[in-house]
Amino acid sequence: MTEAKQTLGVLGGGQLARMMVLAGVPLGVRFRIVDPVADACAGQVASLLHEDWTALDRLQAFAREIDAATFDFENVPAETAEWLAAHAQVAPNARSLAIAQDRVLEKDLFRQCGLPTTEFADVTTRADLDAALARIGAPAILKTRREGYDGKGQFRLQTAGDAGAAWQALGAQAGSRGLILEAFVEFDHEASVIAVRAASGEFDAWPVTRNWHVGGILSASLAPAPLDDAIAAAARAHAQAIAEQLDYVGVFALELFVRGDRLLGNEMAPRVHNSGHWTIEGAVTSQFENHVRAVLGMPLGDTAPRGLSCMLNWIGELPERDALIAIPGAHWHDYGKSPRPGRKVGHATICGDDAATLAGRLRQVARALGRGAQVQPVIDALAAMR
Ligand code: AMP
Repeated sequence: MTEAKQTLGVLGGGQLARMMVLAGVPLGVRFRIVDPVADACAGQVASLLHEDWTALDRLQAFAREIDAATFDFENVPAETAEWLAAHAQVAPNARSLAIAQDRVLEKDLFRQCGLPTTEFADVTTRADLDAALARIGAPAILKTRREGYDGKGQFRLQTAGDAGAAWQALGAQAGSRGLILEAFVEFDHEASVIAVRAASGEFDAWPVTRNWHVGGILSASLAPAPLDDAIAAAARAHAQAIAEQLDYVGVFALELFVRGDRLLGNEMAPRVHNSGHWTIEGAVTSQFENHVRAVLGMPLGDTAPRGLSCMLNWIGELPERDALIAIPGAHWHDYGKSPRPGRKVGHATICGDDAATLAGRLRQVARALGRGAQVQPVIDALAAMR
């Protein structure tokens, strides 16, 4: 018997939606994408409706066409998610989105689920900022509570004397987006767990990924992360507790700071995540495929890794493709976006059966593309594994 064709609606048409399409089409899934940007890059691989997501009256036809809806972008208004839920199955649910859109609610949830976080305070006035600094101390980071991403909407305070400059930078957003002051974490590493949960409650996670950020933007990821088994198991258990608390359906990322044998929750992304891109070639089933499967009620696929993988983000512009793909185990992803400083325009994943093989291939990448600074921390982490 052949299954009926299913149509998945995606709100947001960036590279995450694009990679969802590339993973879902072989399963026979059709896609309808909505994005307020006319040339959103998922539109190169699926039908794109150029529409604002608050224009609910103009989303009626889209809502009728789809069997389920999901997101490539967590800042879709929660009201749109709720409206859509009356017309189609929506995953993740509106509550997960609302919590993940707000850094204070997110940290409250982590603590409620037994995952510690750094000290933090909600800030709405300059006086709140001074009081929060007096309590938390410096260094600290002032961030917008909502709508910040890739290090945008953040100001680092080295001392309490930086309060004026921090307020100058972000104070104007206190009313519209809210602010949060966080104690700076002197972490050993950053890590993430990419996990998936089905409507049945079935839960699985890929091996923990180690991440390196430059200027608040993800630069490189290594998976499986060189990490003590007990810490990796704890990270997975935290992800499961959070998913169950939210009755979450689909893939999500839990970003963590690792300090000694302690884990602190930083934030969650209620969607497929940049630190899980390595799963396309580096795992039996990718985060994109399992997200599509979970959202459309298909059985989940195996999250086991195939050897070791390193993902390198291409930010601003693409390096030379052919120099990279000539290297064994190297895979290229061009998002079809025009170059722009700070913009994620593509990534590469380099795979190897063991740490020595992967490190050798990364040295080739460094030489071929002149990317020494980007790959060296990963090579060092691999050397420490041997
Ligand atoms: P976020 O958007 O909160 O994930 O922040 C982007 C990056 O900034 C993180 O991945 C960290 O590298 C850094 N960062 C954010 N918050 C903190 C913190 N409280 N302490 C230390 N580093 C941080």
